[in-house]
Amino acid sequence: MDKESVVAKKKFGQNFLKDESVLRKIVEAMPKSDNKVVEIGPGLGDLTKFLVDVKSVEAFEVDTDLCKLLQNIFKEEIATKRLHLHCGDVLEAWKSTLIDEPYDLVANLPYYIATNIILKALADPMCKNILAMVQLEVAEKFCATSGEKAFGSLGIITQSVGVAKIVTKVPPTAFDPQPKIDSAVFLIQKSRDRSDKAFEDMLRVAFTQPRKTLMKNLSSKYEKAKLQGAFKELKLTLMIRPHQVSTKDYHQLYKII
Ligand code: SAM
Repeated sequence: MDKESVVAKKKFGQNFLKDESVLRKIVEAMPKSDNKVVEIGPGLGDLTKFLVDVKSVEAFEVDTDLCKLLQNIFKEEIATKRLHLHCGDVLEAWKSTLIDEPYDLVANLPYYIATNIILKALADPMCKNILAMVQLEVAEKFCATSGEKAFGSLGIITQSVGVAKIVTKVPPTAFDPQPKIDSAVFLIQKSRDRSDKAFEDMLRVAFTQPRKTLMKNLSSKYEKAKLQGAFKELKLTLMIRPHQVSTKDYHQLYKII
């Protein structure tokens, strides 16, 4: 099989990035580090080509047809160990870490599991930076700060481990086949590992009904008197909504309750 005869498989979220100017923007935005690069879903290898030029790459591809194609395209890079291609589901390969050395994740992710992959990368102590293309709406959630409409548990988890920003928005026309939604490349530079599970459980409760007050959401699980004391101590009004509270105050609130 050659590249031209590949038919994209919907079940694997295959939207191949064809716009070279976007590929270049991704490479330019790569963090300057000595870390290895992990690419999830190399697809037809268009981004991989740029990546192996600058770093050695570990790539994970689930589609066996594409894996065979990639083994052909990158014969030389595989032989010289510039590229290590893992054929199989990345989620099955991912234990507490994905590889056993520090890495930066650089990928145009399959959208059906993009949020899950980013959360796993945030929790992976070997993952130092994440540069990923996902649905615009998802990128906005990871990059949102307190007060913004998209601010929720994903933004708080991200801010708890480092800093995030949108690098560029990408229209459907950049892909083949074209997705129905806009996409975005975003960068998370990690300085800590993901916070503990109990904190994230509290966030889930805090945002169960985003339009209701934070007090109402939290009192479904936590003792009301304790919450009232905590709100008073942190000078939060009883009417405050979950997206209006800062990441710092969520951490304080967690400590108190
Ligand atoms: N990187 C290519 C590009 O930019 O054109 C392809 C990106 S495409 C959006 C997503 C890629 O992820 C596809 O190649 C797909 O087969 C692969 N993929 C989907 N699910 C996967 C999984 N669970 N593990 C590894 N790769 C997966």
